[in-house]
Amino acid sequence: MSLSARETADGVRSGQRTTRSVVEEVFRRADEVGAGKDGLNIVLHEDREASLREADLRDGKSGASYLVNPNARPLKGVPVYVKDNIATTTLRTTCGSRILADYVSPYDATVVARLRKAGALIVGKTNMDEFAMGSSTENSAYGPTKNPIDPTRVPGGSSGGSAAAVASGMVRIALGSETGGSVRQPASFCGIVGVKPTYGRVSRYGLVAFASSLDQVGVFGRTVDDAALGLQAIAGPDPRDATSSPIEPQAYHAAQHDSLEGLVIGRPREYFPDSLDPRIRDICDQAIERLKSLGAEVCDVSLPHTSLAIPVYYIVAPAEASSNLARFDGVRYGLRLSGDGLEGMYEATRSNGFGPEVTRRILLGTYVLSAGYYDAYYRKAMAIRGLIRRDFEQVFAAGVHVLLTPTAPTTAFKLGAISDPYEMYMSDIFTATANLAGIPGMSVPAGAVEGLPVGVQFLASHFDEYRMFVAAYALERAIAGGAV
Ligand code: GLN
Repeated sequence: MSLSARETADGVRSGQRTTRSVVEEVFRRADEVGAGKDGLNIVLHEDREASLREADLRDGKSGASYLVNPNARPLKGVPVYVKDNIATTTLRTTCGSRILADYVSPYDATVVARLRKAGALIVGKTNMDEFAMGSSTENSAYGPTKNPIDPTRVPGGSSGGSAAAVASGMVRIALGSETGGSVRQPASFCGIVGVKPTYGRVSRYGLVAFASSLDQVGVFGRTVDDAALGLQAIAGPDPRDATSSPIEPQAYHAAQHDSLEGLVIGRPREYFPDSLDPRIRDICDQAIERLKSLGAEVCDVSLPHTSLAIPVYYIVAPAEASSNLARFDGVRYGLRLSGDGLEGMYEATRSNGFGPEVTRRILLGTYVLSAGYYDAYYRKAMAIRGLIRRDFEQVFAAGVHVLLTPTAPTTAFKLGAISDPYEMYMSDIFTATANLAGIPGMSVPAGAVEGLPVGVQFLASHFDEYRMFVAAYALERAIAGGAV
């Protein structure tokens, strides 16, 4: 997509472009890059005919009623890919799993309904790690997605398909989901922008639950502005999600006009351990220098419980997953295989329907919640989760506005390179903390190592996405301008 989301919407609104021509460009580009199963394996479901019909319908409607208020459709004609764990009535929602291979939702997720209302078109559903469990998109039952920058490498995960759709130039905006870094880490691996909003900022209604206390829908953008427009369209209170916050979202795109004077950026030392790849450290330090030269004040801070985030995450997330995934029992949704009696049916359905990583998480989650172990594992993990949250709250209360860290400890690794689950879990070492604390986070492309993109992460206080965007717009502009 050569035009930004904003330019596309302006072009369609003013009649310079038709929605059909925009959608045709998406599919042309998808074919060019090989987005299908035999290529990069980005898209799991699409209905091109239906998308073109929808585009024609939109074009047929005279713009007259919209012209009255040009802001009424901020994403008019903008095509968007959506991760396959977000419910759509028009396309299947499989969560990258065999157990939901044929599942079509009877309703749209709130985020999907809001995108449509903003004028966007959902052009397809993207590949993902099964039930969003993974960091590489290799855990999809439908085969791995490949990184468009280097197809021998993973795009990151679990929202790898959506990241690859944006990175390969098919669209400017795509939706992903985050439980422990699944938008920010693939954004870093693919050289694009990825935002995880504050827990409660965006409705989870229609997002298939993985770990309900951590899950949030996130947005990929080619640029910071694409991401800002995407988030703007989906954010805000929703009566259908009791955990959605009544706090109204800010106008994120306005952050591009703000200066960095007075902005205090913290550099948490625990995110820059001695073992950190020095090339990634350099990219972060360079970003800090750029932001300083634009007027930001930078200080060292400490978040002492950071190293406990991965063990805590891998108790809390599987615990919640084991409970959430109990609903896939062959009775109500998706796959049903017959076995000996009711128990046999459950067993056949679940052991054939779920892949190995999902099975591992269910076992782990059931174990840490079981009577003898609940206190030792789950309760203790929840207590430490509170400490991780408090670390952040204290730093922000002390006057720091935004934190800057690496997004991921590595660049995109080779497909098949990581077979040890624990090593894979370590991909989330810098991202899972924000999900545990409920704060917003964002990855912005900041450089490359051996031709592979590296993102830096901004973290902010609860519901302060705006300040994160101020820093992100400024960094993006400084990098584009070449100023140090
Ligand atoms: N990689 C992490 C996991 O496997 C996070 C996934 C996510 O954010 N959905 O659980």
